[in-house]
Amino acid sequence: MPLIEVQPDSDFPIQNLPYGIFSTQANPSPRVGTRLGDVVVDLSLLDDEGRFDKKYGFFADATLNRFMASGREVWREIRQRLIKLLREEQASINAEALIPANEMQMHLPVSIGDYTDFYASREHATNVGIMLRGKENALMPNWLHLPVGYHGRASSVIVSGADVTRPCGQVKRKDAPLEFTASRQLDFELEMGFFVGTGNELGEPISIDDAHEHIFGMVLLNDWSARDIQAWEYQPLGPFLAKNFATSISPWVVTMDALDPFRVRGPQQDPTPLPYLKTDSANGFDIQLEVTLQSARMDAPQTISRSNMKHLYWSIEQMLAHHTITGCNMRVGDLCGTGTISGPTEDSYGSLLELTWRGEKPIQLSGGEARTFLQDGDALTMKGYCQGDGYRIGFGEVSGRIVPGREDK
Ligand code: CA
Repeated sequence: MPLIEVQPDSDFPIQNLPYGIFSTQANPSPRVGTRLGDVVVDLSLLDDEGRFDKKYGFFADATLNRFMASGREVWREIRQRLIKLLREEQASINAEALIPANEMQMHLPVSIGDYTDFYASREHATNVGIMLRGKENALMPNWLHLPVGYHGRASSVIVSGADVTRPCGQVKRKDAPLEFTASRQLDFELEMGFFVGTGNELGEPISIDDAHEHIFGMVLLNDWSARDIQAWEYQPLGPFLAKNFATSISPWVVTMDALDPFRVRGPQQDPTPLPYLKTDSANGFDIQLEVTLQSARMDAPQTISRSNMKHLYWSIEQMLAHHTITGCNMRVGDLCGTGTISGPTEDSYGSLLELTWRGEKPIQLSGGEARTFLQDGDALTMKGYCQGDGYRIGFGEVSGRIVPGREDK
């Protein structure tokens, strides 16, 4: 068995080792794998063959939940064992456990109980605020004091590659009667998602200093949004149908152990947050993000935005501490989105709403088309990675193609 080669620009070097759920034609049972270069490593087979220090059992599951619930100590023990196995004992691994990545089918990695979406980018909140309320009142009075969020819809979280059906709903255009129509302002939102590994008991908040112990890992997340439906429905309780039809995530969950070397200080927080949100540790992440769009007529994707998670004002630890401060209990497999990650420059905005400034500045596509919002047949892809010294910790991609809504069929 030749050793697995990993190119320097691969998302999946030995320092990464993300977890996902995969199946193959030969063995259609979804099960847990990790990834090294272009190879998927079947952890259920390794577990069966006694290649870990003990038998875990949960690698044969169709979700990561039981593995996640085992806690940070076990996550670390397994990661250390895998690094040793793949570095030093690779030649002894059963060839059947090493599967070419192009033969696998990836599945939703986690059974998600609850999904919460935050609004943690100051640039994004400011841009949207300017469009809605003008420059003077861009940020709401609460925004610098707490990570604003809302409870989203877990049932429609889908894995990369799944098509997205254009939603229909009530749309009220200026000076026009109310209509029921397929959304004409379908948008994406460039976000990161994080999964809760171990939760908390009802009534017992997760403290800001313990929050990192509860987070299993991160994925790329596209919070698809129908802006015209949103504009009519959102007051006073926030988004509802505009965001509940689909949320796409990348299939490989990158662990916090792999991401920790890429922690950076986030933006200075002024005013100082209340004590339950205050932390002195570096809690941002230097994750380079890219969004591409390819219409049905284009031969290749075109980059329409480049951003970075380090721009986020609120950290994921602050989101978790805030979410639970009332005593709200998080459970294994809960998903939180960061909110759209916009950077400070016009080419780093994380949504079409901002990139085209509400449709005023269409994006020119190679081949002559222009876009304000997404059209049927458009494929939208997000990628992300941390750049190390000679290696990358990457997330692969989250991709989705727009297909016509019911009304248009
Ligand atoms: Ca969002």
